[in-house]
Amino acid sequence: MPDEKDQRETRIVDPKVGGEEGAFDLSLRPKRLADFIGQASIVSNLETFIEAAKNRGEPLDHVLLSGPPGLGKTTLAHIIANEMGVGIRTTSGPAVERKGDIAAILTALEPGDVLFIDEIHRLSRVVEELLYSAMEDFALDIILGQGPSAKSIRLSLPRFTMVGATTRTGLLTSPLRDRFGVHARLEYYRPEELEEVIRRSSKSFSIPVDDDGAREIARRSRGTPRVAIRLLKRVRDFAQVSGDGTIHQEIADHALLKMEVDREGLDVMDRKILRVILEKFHGGPVGVETISASVSEERDTIEDVYEPFLIQQGFLKRTPRGRVATPAAYRHLGLAPPKRATQQEGLFGDG
Ligand code: ADP
Repeated sequence: MPDEKDQRETRIVDPKVGGEEGAFDLSLRPKRLADFIGQASIVSNLETFIEAAKNRGEPLDHVLLSGPPGLGKTTLAHIIANEMGVGIRTTSGPAVERKGDIAAILTALEPGDVLFIDEIHRLSRVVEELLYSAMEDFALDIILGQGPSAKSIRLSLPRFTMVGATTRTGLLTSPLRDRFGVHARLEYYRPEELEEVIRRSSKSFSIPVDDDGAREIARRSRGTPRVAIRLLKRVRDFAQVSGDGTIHQEIADHALLKMEVDREGLDVMDRKILRVILEKFHGGPVGVETISASVSEERDTIEDVYEPFLIQQGFLKRTPRGRVATPAAYRHLGLAPPKRATQQEGLFGDG
């Protein structure tokens, strides 16, 4: 179904990396912890751990970064390497399929290097098992030959720092999770923090934006720096074509509505998901598989990208029996909440 895929990849609030943005983003990435906006407690803890490791002359302990896409996990991995003054090798769970792939990466590491594995929850079981001794003992157990004559040899590796990124820690096996000494969970950014991201990006791209314009984009960016930067670039197009070139509040509002990003920052797919739950399934509970089939979107994407935001905004609840829409979801779509939902509002204590 190429059409659906194309549609997904061009979604304006999609927090996943878009084709042309990768290289462009690199130049924008903050390089030091002091320049990293938000996530204050993670930044301050990392500062301490990095300083302590450097004072001891040791590599930093392995770090697991989790949180929805676009919140800065890759950026932090690069910052860690930079602050430690070491090199970084990057790969991703799906890219290392066989033992040989990971062995080649591990044996090429220099002492102290950071090995960044994105989507670490998608590693194959054989690769994951090889990582246990690599992370714990800095050794690689390799079996040579087959059958009764097979021999196991142990290769020692340089001490390195593994930085793993995952959208959901729940998908990691506990032996792997336990081998990370530092666990950091990135949260959605506050609008003031995204305003800062927008202000800095606007300087780098030379896009004039006033305070109200930055605020409008920030509060509609799903708490996600990657979305804020992408929206900034698209709103600039509207400001240049239909405005005076500067991003003010009115042109930002106009542009975002044109791109179907509503006043709460929800996009077409967010509203489609809510509408399906409200109209087809009477507000839920409904299973994520059913939602996925109804809106033609992959289950993983729904669970990684849409749900966390809809839950955080108070539109959706996860219950043992499935997903339930809150009265706020009815109100947002201009529908009257049924009696049951109003009762649930009391039960949930919000709405
Ligand atoms: P993830 O790996 O979590 O998907 P990235 O690290 O690729 O996210 O970040 C996405 C984009 O947002 C990058 O362009 C990055 O420069 C920017 N970004 C993320 N976090 C911050 C931050 N705290 N301050 C400034 N820019 C950020």
